[in-house]
Amino acid sequence: MPEYSISQLGTFEECALQYRLIYVDRIKRYEEGVEAFLGQRFHEAMEWLYQERAFRVVPLEELLAYYEKAWAEKWHDEVKINRKERTGDDYKLMGRRFIEDYYKRHHPFDEGRVLGLERYIRFPLAEGTRYGCKGIIDRIMLAPDGAFEIHDYKTGSKLPEQADVDEDRQLALYQIGVQTLWPEAKEVRLIWHLVAFDLEMRSRRTPEALEGLRKDIAGLIDRIEAEREFAPHESALCNWCPYWDLCPVKKHLVKVEGLPRDQWKDEPGVAIVDAYAERWRKKRGLEAEVKAVEGELDEIRDAAISFAEKEGVQVIGGTDARLRVTGKDRITAPSKGSEEREALERELRAAGVWEEVATLDASALEKAVADGRWAPDVLERIKAYITIEKRYAVTLKEES
Ligand code: SF4
Repeated sequence: MPEYSISQLGTFEECALQYRLIYVDRIKRYEEGVEAFLGQRFHEAMEWLYQERAFRVVPLEELLAYYEKAWAEKWHDEVKINRKERTGDDYKLMGRRFIEDYYKRHHPFDEGRVLGLERYIRFPLAEGTRYGCKGIIDRIMLAPDGAFEIHDYKTGSKLPEQADVDEDRQLALYQIGVQTLWPEAKEVRLIWHLVAFDLEMRSRRTPEALEGLRKDIAGLIDRIEAEREFAPHESALCNWCPYWDLCPVKKHLVKVEGLPRDQWKDEPGVAIVDAYAERWRKKRGLEAEVKAVEGELDEIRDAAISFAEKEGVQVIGGTDARLRVTGKDRITAPSKGSEEREALERELRAAGVWEEVATLDASALEKAVADGRWAPDVLERIKAYITIEKRYAVTLKEES
């Protein structure tokens, strides 16, 4: 039975290509982000603290020394720090503070009996199913009231809301695992230690919520197993992805970055992009210019209409061009379904001219009124329902 971890499922949802590279092609990369490095060291310190708790309470200074020793021994030059203004030591100090806060909050660490530390679990998603799941639980505790507790340390700097932890899949999936492996775990509490905030958040799951989760995860596994394309999906997480050289949205960037700056212009892809960018910027500049000229033309057009009306002319002469200003009444009938529209239609029928404008389209009505086709009293009555607005056309004729 293939087994899926929650991080594996999450990877597929984030980027199917990264999923394929890690879990299908099994291409190993050892690049490590400083946040993950810090998280690992914190988890190790906690594991040791609770292991020792069976014999003694480790003093804080000894715990910090354990953490710093592991940090120094495991640190390597490939640990990636994305925030250029930060150093490894900044993160080490941050980890120290997490440990100090946690220690003070939970000392003397007797809130229950430890059932498992960094416990690897494997379990079927449901009885008789073909879906298998696996995961590592930071700490499983038996609380004094008999409840099982699933503890998870989070060293990230984003504070979740209660709704986030109530919908979190990871610990809920672990609950399914714990209740499958230890059926006496009737009552289970899910507990997150948000050590960057010295905060603890808790949640519970109903049997119905766990059933819904089983269905969602089974559906996701079906999607993974049916996937053929494994398309890349760009997101903020790309910054932590070690597969840029194999990813179609990143590999050309890697290639260009690897070239000396003075050779960039000769690289064929760079040349294409530079040429395109230049024309695109030029086009954007021209479009802005066209828009500005159109605005100016509108203003001059309004001035030409005012001038033509005031002077009673239809053609205005210029130095080497003429402007023709023609005005025409435009009739607007009341909108369909309105009371005015129905009254107008009744009026047209009563006057016996309804057939001429049959569907009462504006242009038929406009033509009938403009042609003076109907008796003056009919026209007068109809005018009560329609709007007559003058529309102008201003056309330029250049002198040849
Ligand atoms: S760089 Fe981004 S898009 Fe490409 S594989 Fe990695 S996560 Fe996916």
